[in-house]
Formats: sequence, C-alpha cells, structure tokens
Amino acid sequence: MNLEKINQGIKNCKKCNLYKTRTYPVYGEGNPKSKIMFIGEGPGKNEDLQGRPFVGAAGKLLEELLTLISLKRKDIFIGNVIKCRPPGNRDPQPEEIEYCFPYLQEQINTIKPKLIVPMGRYSLQEFLPGKSISHAHGKLFKKENQYYFPIYHPAAGLYRNNLKKTMKEDIKKIPKVLKKISKFKE
Ligand code: URA
Repeated sequence: MNLEKINQGIKNCKKCNLYKTRTYPVYGEGNPKSKIMFIGEGPGKNEDLQGRPFVGAAGKLLEELLTLISLKRKDIFIGNVIKCRPPGNRDPQPEEIEYCFPYLQEQINTIKPKLIVPMGRYSLQEFLPGKSISHAHGKLFKKENQYYFPIYHPAAGLYRNNLKKTMKEDIKKIPKVLKKISKFKE
C-alpha cells in the first residue's frame, strides 16, 4: 500500500468517535524512504489545527534534537500512534489506540524503516509492552526483526532541563545505532 492510500483510509475513518471532534487528522509526514521513523503519541491542539505532526512547542524541541545529528524533519518520517486529537488533550483510550494502530502498522510496512524511535511511554507501550521509558530510553531493542530505540517524549523535555540533557545524549547515539544495525543486517 502507498502512503496516500493509507492517508485516505485515515481521512474516512469512523472506527472511534475522535473523527467527530478533531479538526484535521494528522497522518504523519516526512521522507517515505526514511531509515528512521519517530513515533509520538497523538496530535495536540496545534497539530489538530494544522493536520501536521509535532508543530507546537514539543515539535520545536524535536527539531532542535534532530539538528544534533544533522537531520531535518524532511529527512525522516514523523508519525503518531493515534491520528486524531482526543478532546481537551485527554489521554487516548485503549480502544482508540486499538482501532488506530493498524494505520501506523501499515505506514511502517510501507516505509520499512531500519529503526523506529518511539517517543514517550504511550508509543513505547505499543511497540514494546511492559517496558518503562525511564529504563528503556537510549537503548536498542530488537523485536520480530524490527529495531527500536526509545527516547523520552519531547513534551517531557520542555520544562525539565535534566530530561532535555538526557534526550540530547540519547539522540546523539542514533547515527552509531544505525551503523550498528546495518552491519547486523549485512
Ligand atoms: N505530541 C505528540 O505525541 N504528537 C504530536 O504530533 C504532537 C505532540
């Protein structure tokens, strides 16, 4: 399946009620041939209004972190576990995630990234259930032939300088991690 087809499915989706209150769905965006996918939780207010992922304050921090490894948004793919904003920024409910996750799975199957970077505990929970972000961040995991490198959610780093420092250290490991997993795959 190509990404446009997947987006069309998301646009017309009525599996949960979030389509009723959202402004725009947030499909995710970036390089469809990217080796890395960064996956957040779900759209916030700014994302909902623009239909684009990570365009608010957390997105600014994400962009700042990416520059540390000479990457721009357009070089990678940025997506979310759920595509429509929960009203009032409440946490996504389990069934909303359950209905929405297959879209992300289709995006992953299409892009076929070498590395998935789950950002924050919600995203981590979907890929590596049972792992806590405070233990798993900055470490490489492999599950069913897919590599994962979890980091804290950028929103968490916004007001906590020590976490921001940790996020910078973690993200700087990514080029080495990519080299390492390319070698494993040879
Ligand atoms: N937080 C997320 O998890 N995703 C976004 O797209 C924006 C903020």
